[in-house]
Amino acid sequence: MKSKIWLSSPHIGSNELLYVNEAFATNWIAPLGPHVNTFEQGLQLQTNTSHAAALSSGTSAIHLALILLGVKAGDIVFCQSMTFSASANPIAYQGAIPVFIDSERDTWNMDPALLKISLEEAKQNEKLPKAIVPVHLYGMPAKMKEILSIANEYGVPVIEDAAEALGSNIDNKPCGSFGEFGVLSFNGNKIITTSGGGALLSKNAEMIEKARFLATQARDSAPHYQHSHIGYNYRMSNVLAGIGRGQLEVLSDRVKARRNNFERYKKYFSKHNYAGFTIKFQEAPSGYYSNRWLTCILVDPAFNNGLTREVIRLSLEEENIESRPLWKPMHQQPIFANSKAYLNGVSDRLFEDGLCLPSGSNLTDEEFDRIFESLDNLFAKYQNS
Ligand SMILES: *Cc1c(COP(=O)(O)O)cnc(C)c1O
Repeated sequence: MKSKIWLSSPHIGSNELLYVNEAFATNWIAPLGPHVNTFEQGLQLQTNTSHAAALSSGTSAIHLALILLGVKAGDIVFCQSMTFSASANPIAYQGAIPVFIDSERDTWNMDPALLKISLEEAKQNEKLPKAIVPVHLYGMPAKMKEILSIANEYGVPVIEDAAEALGSNIDNKPCGSFGEFGVLSFNGNKIITTSGGGALLSKNAEMIEKARFLATQARDSAPHYQHSHIGYNYRMSNVLAGIGRGQLEVLSDRVKARRNNFERYKKYFSKHNYAGFTIKFQEAPSGYYSNRWLTCILVDPAFNNGLTREVIRLSLEEENIESRPLWKPMHQQPIFANSKAYLNGVSDRLFEDGLCLPSGSNLTDEEFDRIFESLDNLFAKYQNS
């Protein structure tokens, strides 16, 4: 069996282990310490936000953002439908009610036109959402200017799920810095990793201070353990923040490598687009800069001699090459089957035709050769069928 080519695997630089060793040498093996502070400062600098709290996951960051915005049982929260379930699950943790909003064709993210319609309807029903959660899928920024201007019109705060978009920006304004809150993830498959972790970003110092308080069991200041709030154990460990410090130092290299992957795939598929195939990509609107966390293609069988994304996926799998359908939209998930959704057919189509290709920043030329050879064989088979 040939060695496995992963969709997106961790890519460690040269200083991560030094920082981890430093944590051991100084006995800062705790959910606080100098690496956590330095990592938070690095994140602020990178995302051009004034405050950041390093947490145990991106999911916990979304959860805390909802709590800080006062989301309670029975409240409504609008969420992009086309996303990973972690964007929506914390809404359910609060006993709140998610309403899902479909995507637009350009960025594959929350459709501002549908958002406007849904907010207007919510206003008529006197039940505006407590928050709106757009997502920057696969690193491509959502149409934040439009989304924020509509959200402001109705006075609803935005939690920006930038878990996949560290290093992305719109007109040089970094993803994670647009909303009332920004959310990052450092899970093992993300563009940089702490093996598991996340962060909450905000311009609002008081909010991030509260996030740190809630994330460390909401301990009141007293010599004994005293609590007047329900707390959580959501802080990032100093050991893992050491990994994060090393990873932040190589972030720009990782973005460069992933954007290179995208160009490489694009060049490869453009060759085939002359021969009766039309493979489409997530294209960046002018001024939108994607970190290209994952390169994704759309394969409409009607324009590809009957070839489907599933045939491509299975044929790559035979060669031990991992690829994956795009996120299955939340409105199609069994767990959210009864949730209200504003739909336009875009995310259904994306799920039907979309495939994420191997996109790690550590892919080698030999691995690309294997991927392209496998695709070549498949294209040859479908050439005239
Ligand atoms: C990864 C991810 C999350 C959750 O991050 P974790 O750190 O895994 O909890 C949230 N939203 C999106 C869109 C993600 O891709």
